[in-house]
Amino acid sequence: MLMQQKFDPQAVGSEAPVAKTFTGNRGLETEEGLIFETGRPENTGVDLDEPLPFKHRLGSLERQEPAGLPGLSEPESMRHYVRLSRLNYAIDAGIYPLGSCTMKHNPRLNEAMARLPGFADIHPLQPQSTVQGALELIAELAHWLMVMTGMDAVAMSPRAGAHGEACGMMAIKAAIAAKGEDQARKIVLVPESAHGTNPASAAVAGFEVRTVPARPDGTLDPAEVMRRLGPDAAAIMLTNPNTCGLFEKDVVELAALVHEAGAYFYCDGANFNAIMGKTRPGDLGVDAMHINLHKTFSTPHGGGGPGAGPVVLSSRLAPFAPVPFLRRDKGGFHLVEHKSEAPDSFGRIAAFHGQMGMFVRAFAYMLSHGADGLRQAAEDAVLNANYVRACLKDLMSGPFGDRLCLHEVLFDETWLRPTGLTTVDFAKAMIDEGFHPMTIYFPLVVHGAMLIEPTESESKASLDLFIAALRDLALAAKRGETERFVGAPYLAPRRRLDETRAARNPILKWKKPGG
Ligand SMILES: *Cc1c(COP(=O)(O)O)cnc(C)c1O
Repeated sequence: MLMQQKFDPQAVGSEAPVAKTFTGNRGLETEEGLIFETGRPENTGVDLDEPLPFKHRLGSLERQEPAGLPGLSEPESMRHYVRLSRLNYAIDAGIYPLGSCTMKHNPRLNEAMARLPGFADIHPLQPQSTVQGALELIAELAHWLMVMTGMDAVAMSPRAGAHGEACGMMAIKAAIAAKGEDQARKIVLVPESAHGTNPASAAVAGFEVRTVPARPDGTLDPAEVMRRLGPDAAAIMLTNPNTCGLFEKDVVELAALVHEAGAYFYCDGANFNAIMGKTRPGDLGVDAMHINLHKTFSTPHGGGGPGAGPVVLSSRLAPFAPVPFLRRDKGGFHLVEHKSEAPDSFGRIAAFHGQMGMFVRAFAYMLSHGADGLRQAAEDAVLNANYVRACLKDLMSGPFGDRLCLHEVLFDETWLRPTGLTTVDFAKAMIDEGFHPMTIYFPLVVHGAMLIEPTESESKASLDLFIAALRDLALAAKRGETERFVGAPYLAPRRRLDETRAARNPILKWKKPGG
């Protein structure tokens, strides 16, 4: 049972005789400066012999001044990076409820497999005869991605979801050009609720984006799509389940309309984790869809680490897939790298063949779950999201009434308005409670959106604590305890930042004080 306590930010740490510590550290949480601030140029972590006299051949290019690199002893550099890593929030540290991002636990088995020397220590320029096992793993993974999606081909090289979108749009562009319609078909329809990467990818591929509004229930209306589909239509980009956490119930009809108009159906499959093992996009009429291995198949992401966004393609688009791709012949596997072997391919979108480590992790996740386990992961993700929804719906409003959701639950700011607080105030107060906030202000179509995706990783106990904390915060907001929110976070190493200024005026270069 959690005790209800009135929160007093002034009282936080008030028993301490000092408000500020000498070092700036808080307990064992240390303040870490930039490496340039703490390092001393004369210091080094290694002993190097003085070089013998030599004559350089750099001419006028020889450096005239010291490089100004920070110098630290070995333990100092070790500590610097370990301390920095502790400032990062991670799925290994707690629930990470970011909607649309699918922050699920990365099973350690996957890590062990990815570190096997035969996968971890290979080089993309190694002779293909020496990496047949790695190529076979890519082929097996590709096979199961096609089986799970009911599609005919898959491009493995895209490095992330957005990259996969660009790949899909380029395949569509090549298919349209092959029909001689590239001058006529320029329009890509994108629903208002789409992830920002969708219109960006269409634009990068040279298309013109036209937005389609959603119905009040958050899904797309075939009549609205029909009205915008003409001889100038190249494709629709539809997210399913969509970014409101809802399954597009008219998706089959939408696909038929798009195809009748001579256009292609791109599906943003970032949310495939909600439907894997339940629905095959190929059966819904999808022509191209990226799969975020780093979401659905649990490979680590966040903090800019590597992702992988394979794109499954229908038979209509398969001939236009990018190189390289794998082919198996009597000599084993070989990579088709050149247009001479794949004349309709739209070309290459990345150096080399994909993210090997991500492939190994995703494949390990698939094999360790099996078909029934993957289906259950999708079911549990949906169950967890609906559990959160059911436990909070009496306090927090949602935009679509009392409707079941898929893998993520969406709340809006209607319930907060009478309190004078905003979505960002509520999210920041969660940090003081030790929770990473949910995704806020996305999707853009919902005012003050709060999108929670618990994933299947969370136990009931972990969800119950999360829900209890949110209920406590929501009740405090309704009681008018605004102080708990407006200055939050009070307990984090950094308080509320001016995020707009940070984005508009990023200071990315350290300048030596007085230098
Ligand atoms: C995450 C996501 C993307 C982009 O994927 P990245 O791998 O981050 O590029 C696109 N669409 C939706 C709906 C997403 O959730």
